[in-house]
Amino acid sequence: MAEMQTAICFIDHQEHMLIDGRYLKDLEPATRNLIKADHPGAKVTDFICDHDLLKYQLMRVDGMVRSDVKQGQKINRRLTRAMQSDDYDIVDVNENLEKTLTMGQRVSDAVARFGGSWGFIGIFTFVLIAWMCVNGAGLFGIRFDPFPFILLNLALSCIAAIQAPIIMMSQNRAADRDRMNSENDYHVNLKSEHELRILHAKLDNLTQNQLPHTLEIQKLEIEILGQIRNELDELHRNHPDEFTENNEDSVKTRSDDSSAK
Ligand SMILES: [Zn+2]
Repeated sequence: MAEMQTAICFIDHQEHMLIDGRYLKDLEPATRNLIKADHPGAKVTDFICDHDLLKYQLMRVDGMVRSDVKQGQKINRRLTRAMQSDDYDIVDVNENLEKTLTMGQRVSDAVARFGGSWGFIGIFTFVLIAWMCVNGAGLFGIRFDPFPFILLNLALSCIAAIQAPIIMMSQNRAADRDRMNSENDYHVNLKSEHELRILHAKLDNLTQNQLPHTLEIQKLEIEILGQIRNELDELHRNHPDEFTENNEDSVKTRSDDSSAK
């Protein structure tokens, strides 16, 4: 057999082949720190056998999984808290205004709506022309307001004087509606921004912590599998007879089973 280099494991103080273990300086810093926590005197030039290393690798995997779960829970708690703390009820503006409407306000709305329509202009023009025709030309022999129509002037002034405040009342209510709408919008925006920020944190945690951890765990798993294979190979080497016998036995029993059928 070719001469194999060996080293002494600093934990169990037994001699191992170099391929059956690693020097501490070749390990991941996190795993090395775990070993140093257990063995404060360990140096980077010390050798550790795969068998003893396995325990620390499993501890490392366990630690990563646990920290990921903890971090995920923390962010979820923040999200839940943010959802619960927002006690602002979105107001249904139309329903709210409809409920608090007084009779006067209803009338002012109706007047403002009618006063701002083509129908009103048409009717008003017709009334003006009819008034002037009746009084100017003396149609039907009536002349209750002769030229220059002083009574018509008075009537027009009165209508204008009353219409202005009615329209203003209606405009005030439109302003109320706008104010409530913008208040709703503000709160919805605030809530969205808050939730977005937490989602960002969640995504950052996923890409910056959990993904690298997953890759590291995979790497450790492959290493552990390699160690298991090495140990199996060693078993094969040390006890070749047992393995071949067992294999023959199993082959024999299998053929027995098939013949029994
Ligand atoms: Zn050892």
